[in-house]
Amino acid sequence: MVEEDIDEPVVETFDVNYSCLRCGTTVSHTELNRLPEIKCICGFRVFTKARPPVVKTIKAV
Ligand SMILES: [Zn+2]
Repeated sequence: MVEEDIDEPVVETFDVNYSCLRCGTTVSHTELNRLPEIKCICGFRVFTKARPPVVKTIKAV
């Protein structure tokens, strides 16, 4: 009998940050998803996509 190892795919979730065009507040994508509508705290709805954080693999010795 072959036992299958079902590896769950590792989903790398990185938070994309958006910054409001008006006030410049940075909101993460997760944060925006939690809101009923995509809107900044200042009421503005236009966001620019900020650069996603660079994922660095650092080996801990
Ligand atoms: Zn704003």
